[in-house]
Amino acid sequence: MSAPPTSVLISGAGVAGLTLAYWLHQRGFAVTVVEKAAALRRGGYMIDFWGAGFDVAEKMGLLDELLAHHIDMAELTFVNEADERVGGFNVPRLRMAVSFRHYNILRSALAAVLYRRVKDNVEILFDTSIENLNGSDAGVTATLSDGKSLGFDFCIGADGLHSHVRNLCFGEDSDVEHFLGYYTASFTYRGSQSEVDGIRMFTVPGKQAAIYPVGKNTRAAFFLFESEELNVETCGGPEALLRREFGDLGWRCPELLENMDSANDYYFDAVSQIRMPKWSQGRIGLVGDACQSVSLVGGQGAALAMAGAYILAQELARDDGASGGGQAESLVRYESALRPEIERKQRMAEGFAKSFVPKTPLSLWTRNKLSNAVMLPGVSKWFIKRYMADNLKLDFGNA
Ligand SMILES: Cc1cc2nc3c(=O)[nH]c(=O)nc-3n(C[C@H](O)[C@H](O)[C@H](O)COP(=O)(O)OP(=O)(O)OC[C@H]3O[C@@H](n4cnc5c(N)ncnc54)[C@H](O)[C@@H]3O)c2cc1C
Repeated sequence: MSAPPTSVLISGAGVAGLTLAYWLHQRGFAVTVVEKAAALRRGGYMIDFWGAGFDVAEKMGLLDELLAHHIDMAELTFVNEADERVGGFNVPRLRMAVSFRHYNILRSALAAVLYRRVKDNVEILFDTSIENLNGSDAGVTATLSDGKSLGFDFCIGADGLHSHVRNLCFGEDSDVEHFLGYYTASFTYRGSQSEVDGIRMFTVPGKQAAIYPVGKNTRAAFFLFESEELNVETCGGPEALLRREFGDLGWRCPELLENMDSANDYYFDAVSQIRMPKWSQGRIGLVGDACQSVSLVGGQGAALAMAGAYILAQELARDDGASGGGQAESLVRYESALRPEIERKQRMAEGFAKSFVPKTPLSLWTRNKLSNAVMLPGVSKWFIKRYMADNLKLDFGNA
């Protein structure tokens, strides 16, 4: 009689969790995913998707489907209060410089495409989370919110920036969130596409608001503001804070804030990175933002989450069979393979964060002027090599 397949419990049906579920299923593992939300998140915000994660998506055969969700942006236009162009760069030219291996896509659309790829092969329990976790050398016992207590060979937390598995395993007080000095908010709302054919971004020192189309009749609003670390609730909550920061700013901020109350996909969070001394504890591990968040300033968290999930599945599969159930060592090997590149991207993002939103009128003027040069051939080559290239070798040999 052959041994039962290695079983893995994944917390979080997001980008990392669903990618991991796919690759583990491909390699013969029995996978269960628990997702706290009642359904996949919709709307939200747009991401730039490229690099190692793009390669993983290609290997999964997802590029055509993802391309169907790609949002064409004519330009990233920096505007003044009167909505007149003061700088910017041509987005298609940037995409061309990376051979169009770059899509603009809603994070929620990427997750939905991944979900469709795995939903028939993997057990996905919505409205469910892990209440308790106990790990031993032999496996992991998880008590779920529906009261069931189940045994698995491994448990992986793919539950995002505020990971619940991380809290259960490493303690809520573990000081791993590294605040980068900004808060961000996004949501979508109804509005015609014709009027906005790219990203229009209004900046004053320390604050940035943007508007872009995400569908025929839908637009997205994006806000970013510099701040010391706040207790958001004592500031009256996220919406009040956003009104306080942008309410008197002019441009189209009043229009955007007016649409905030009716949005059903409102996102608000601190811009932070996760930096941990180690990403696993025995047979319990982490993947994606839960352990490796580079932040939105890194501009690549989703792609790196997919690359991380691919490497993790590969390492778990390397031991499988030979030892009957995989080894906790595989989690350590995965971390060794991925951590150097994550730390490099985190350092780069932290440096970039200092000037991400110009802090003075002079730096704002300079940013606007320099942005026009980004697409000059020599500059774009330098920009891509400096900020976009990944030093991550993914071995697709037997995938
Ligand atoms: C405004 C903004 C812009 C960004 N821009 C980019 C970009 O341009 N390019 C890019 O690549 N990345 C970008 N990112 C980052 C990217 O979105 C994240 O890095 C990526 O989504 C991380 O994937 P993940 O699967 O680790 O986490 P998530 O995608 O956040 O998924 C986590 C999942 O876990 C679930 N969950 C949470 N708690 C629990 C629980 N207790 N139990 C069960 N499930 C739970 C959540 O509901 C969610 O489904 C941006 C982020 C923001 C906020």
